[in-house]
Amino acid sequence: MRVLGIEGTAWCASAALYDAETDSVLIESNPYEPDSGGIHPREAAEHMSEAIPEVVDEVLAAAEAQHGPDAIDAVAFSKGPGLGPCLRTVGTAARALAGALDVPLVGVNHMVAHLEIGRHQSGFENPVCLNASGANAHLLGYHDGRYRVLGETMDAGVGNAIDKFTRHVGWDHPGGPKVEAAARRYAEASDDPGELFDLPYVVKGMDFSFSGISSAANDAYDDGTSVEELCFSLQEHVFAMLTEVSERALSLTGADELVLGGGVAQNDRLREMLSSMCAARGAEFHAPEPRFLRDNAGMIAVLGEKMARAGDTVPIPESAIDPNFRPDQVPVTWRSGESV
Ligand code: ATP
Repeated sequence: MRVLGIEGTAWCASAALYDAETDSVLIESNPYEPDSGGIHPREAAEHMSEAIPEVVDEVLAAAEAQHGPDAIDAVAFSKGPGLGPCLRTVGTAARALAGALDVPLVGVNHMVAHLEIGRHQSGFENPVCLNASGANAHLLGYHDGRYRVLGETMDAGVGNAIDKFTRHVGWDHPGGPKVEAAARRYAEASDDPGELFDLPYVVKGMDFSFSGISSAANDAYDDGTSVEELCFSLQEHVFAMLTEVSERALSLTGADELVLGGGVAQNDRLREMLSSMCAARGAEFHAPEPRFLRDNAGMIAVLGEKMARAGDTVPIPESAIDPNFRPDQVPVTWRSGESV
């Protein structure tokens, strides 16, 4: 089966073709880059309405050039969570395309797609998943037909918390890669990078909070602490919180596999901390390659194919988008034969 996926929950207009027979994924993406500040919802929506038709055309043309006019067996789209005006453009494009090609439509939960791409690539049977993305941060584990939210941020998403600090210091969006580079510079230059500038570390059971840490880092910057030192400390605190809750999730569920998802998962230091925690407890760890970590339609097409194969398609009149679509609202139809 070949599935064309469309993604556009916030900043990245993306289309992809997943060919299950060869397990290959072609992705075309066109990111929105704000001139200043963070993501402006209206500008992001305008970007989607221009860029989604372009990336869909490119992928469709490539698919038809290779496989002829019947190249596509289903169209999958990110139904949520995300920014409403962006999702509406994605939904409209997907409905129009599925109607024109006369193929089934699949509504995919973007956060479950972040998890499933890691499970698909790793071959892990029943992993815990840490989703560390811009607008979200949570741990998911499968039980009895659903991905349950084992723990989550009580306020900001992890990437948004980092970007809030970088906006404050005047850096362009996205801030995450700049924080990573500055933290590395600090570690390389410092005699003792283990000496951390103290920032709030808030973990409550399986949940965690980032709003205080962004504000404290902003205040410390205003008081004259060096930006490199703050980037180093911010990363160490935030990623230690995520590593602590990931370890607790593995321990409580008895799982011995961890997959990572989301744009912040491109950070080497986060992957290093999770990987050594997993090694210390004899668990396996998998982080997908970067093109599947940041927002991308590849993961939508891959999960869309599994859902379409399970008959989990949606009639056009029932295909409304859902900006607050939680991962635990999704009946996991494509794993129904599994015993976990
Ligand atoms: P969601 O998937 O929750 O809708 P999103 O749409 O904001 O999130 P993602 O592509 O998952 O998008 O993540 C974008 C975030 O990843 C931004 O906040 C960005 O700063 C962060 N990011 C990107 N690269 C890095 C990095 N190397 N280190 C830390 N953060 C990073």
